[in-house]
Amino acid sequence: MRNENLSAELNLSTPIQYLSGIGPKRGEAFASTGVHTAGDLLYYYPRRYLDRRSITPIEELEKDNLSTVVGEVVSFGLERGRRRRFKILLDDGTGILACTWFNGIRFVQKRFKENQLIAVHSKVGIYANQFTMIHPEFDILGSGQDPLKTGAIIPVYPSTDGLKKVRLDSNGILKIIKNSVAALTGLVKEYLPHNTIDENNLLNLPEALKQIHFADDGDILQKAIFRLKFDELFFYQLLLAVRKHSTKKSRIGIKFKSKNELLSSVFKSLPFELTDSQKKVMGDIRKDMSESSPMQRLLQGDVGSGKTVVAFLASAIAIGSGYQAAIMAPTEILSDQHFQNAVKFFKDTGVKIVQLKGGLTGTKRKTIFQSLSNGESDLVIGTHALLYDEVQFKNLGFAVIDEQHRFGVEQRAGLMIKGVNPDILIMSATPIPRSLAMSIYADLDVSYLTEMPAGRRKVRTELRSAVNRHKIYEFLKGRFKAGEQAFILYPLIEESEKIDLQAAVKAFDNLENKIFPEFNLALLHGRMSAEEKETVMNGFSNGNVDALITTTVIEVGIDIPNATVMLVENAERFGLSQLHQLRGRIGRGGNKSYFIMISDSKGAAAQRRLNVLMESNDGFVIAQEDLKQRGYGDFFGKRQHGIPDFKLADIIEDAHIAKDARTSAFNLTEEDPHLRKPENRLLRDRFMSSYSDRLKFIETG
Ligand code: ADP
Ligand code: MG
Repeated sequence: MRNENLSAELNLSTPIQYLSGIGPKRGEAFASTGVHTAGDLLYYYPRRYLDRRSITPIEELEKDNLSTVVGEVVSFGLERGRRRRFKILLDDGTGILACTWFNGIRFVQKRFKENQLIAVHSKVGIYANQFTMIHPEFDILGSGQDPLKTGAIIPVYPSTDGLKKVRLDSNGILKIIKNSVAALTGLVKEYLPHNTIDENNLLNLPEALKQIHFADDGDILQKAIFRLKFDELFFYQLLLAVRKHSTKKSRIGIKFKSKNELLSSVFKSLPFELTDSQKKVMGDIRKDMSESSPMQRLLQGDVGSGKTVVAFLASAIAIGSGYQAAIMAPTEILSDQHFQNAVKFFKDTGVKIVQLKGGLTGTKRKTIFQSLSNGESDLVIGTHALLYDEVQFKNLGFAVIDEQHRFGVEQRAGLMIKGVNPDILIMSATPIPRSLAMSIYADLDVSYLTEMPAGRRKVRTELRSAVNRHKIYEFLKGRFKAGEQAFILYPLIEESEKIDLQAAVKAFDNLENKIFPEFNLALLHGRMSAEEKETVMNGFSNGNVDALITTTVIEVGIDIPNATVMLVENAERFGLSQLHQLRGRIGRGGNKSYFIMISDSKGAAAQRRLNVLMESNDGFVIAQEDLKQRGYGDFFGKRQHGIPDFKLADIIEDAHIAKDARTSAFNLTEEDPHLRKPENRLLRDRFMSSYSDRLKFIETG
């Protein structure tokens, strides 16, 4: 009776509180975890499953393994040792497991009863000769829910939180979902095209949503998870496919003259021969630029592989064909450096180059704007100041975005509207492995610089503990006396910015006055004004400053051939790829160079991480390792990586699914670029609701 009633009124957008057994208070608890509607409930996935395969009998536990145990509470209570603790003993018929809490005792104390069946999940330790879990995740199971006895697969849900009064634990949620899953999945409509389902051998959507909660068996559960991961990756790939279509395929850009006088003249005056890799990349770029569809190309290359010269040569293709070009760098210092290099590169060619700085005012600013809008300037180099509304071009034909992961899709779009479908070259700051690049940059064509210019000397890499610091300082003095320079780097992360900055300033004080009084040291950090930074950098690049003490990693993306040592304090706090980038800043001159990491972190993980740098000098290999160790969120930084938060999928672990999803998504947009066909209507609706925020940068015309 009740169910009939329910399905008569129910739809997937029914507010969650109206579902049977929920009501306003529990509704609020659900809302606090992002479940607002009946449909959302279906996507509130279990965080784990309890079944015969995932549960370890206590007698088979092994120290240090992450394990799940299901057993009955045979005793519980407070204990006083050196620290007050709450302890329960679990019995599963094969042995006894102790679970101990030192914190949050008041909260856990109330939760247990004798003879209660519970599941615990944690790393296993051995204390006083007994298997023990400290602060395990736990779930209280209902009667008749012993997966070992019933052979069932029991879903374990993340508890709702945020609300003091009503908190739903796994068992409560399980009951609610069990009540409504049949009715709800009955309302779900398949939105993927038949082809996609058949080609990828996918479970249909209602079935997958049912099985992911209450699976008939382990195999079908795997298929359900696969299907739902596929969906997450598919919609992301569809976003990239639609973006590629709207920025590249459906627009008509400029056909540049890939052979022109300017290009041949700068080629002739190059002080070195291009590497084979650079030649190959230039081949890709020439081809793209001479075709009418606007180039959207990502150039991936390790630090020092010579991306800048590629950017200048491509600019020469555009300028030599009568168009303007722009290069956007992430910081003023890098923009300064590009500007100086560009001036040298285009010397005696008549190419007019301007630099657009953030802080410019008055006539200077006006003059630059004018020279861009009337076409007097051929090439502009600047930071995101290039995106200002006042910046108008006569005929911007080509733009470079340097250090791509500092800028997002929004900025790319912002540059593109400054011209009429200009060609875009994006350059990576940190190269990532091909398989991942295929997934996350599927909207771009990608070129790789796979070799280093000849004559680059290998940098000697050392990992030292802090007790050696004074020896290292003596070594530095020797380098300074020989006329060489050094970077000394202190970590600074956003979360502890203030403390980190203080530490660096204090260290600078000590180094300047006590350690190296006879030498010239300078401090550079992110809180300084652009002018202050510029003064410091000039001092360092003209050799007046022996050592640059700094926290700002990105500012170090500069070329100082005379710097032969980089000393990194608390190296364990940096990412591997970041350290590799930093290492690439030295060894650019003729002298032997040293990259010295100081770390006292005893942890095996930290040592293992830093060892990767000792063993490899290949940015792609290091990035792969870094990604594996940190996950992509931390790898790319929180801000700009652009990868959605998937519930199930992991773009690295599930690269094989991403690949199939990409093929399907790109095939689909070949046939129906704007998802206009009637049979794709449901798909389009779902896509629009998932990605409405990101689609505003795309003309779906
Ligand atoms: P990155 O890829 O890190 O941006 P850069 O473009 O800054 O690298 O190049 C690093 C250095 O190598 C620069 O000093 C540049 O002049 C030099 N360089 C680039 N290409 C070559 C080459 N083919 N042969 C020799 N030196 C080169
Ligand atoms: Mg560069």
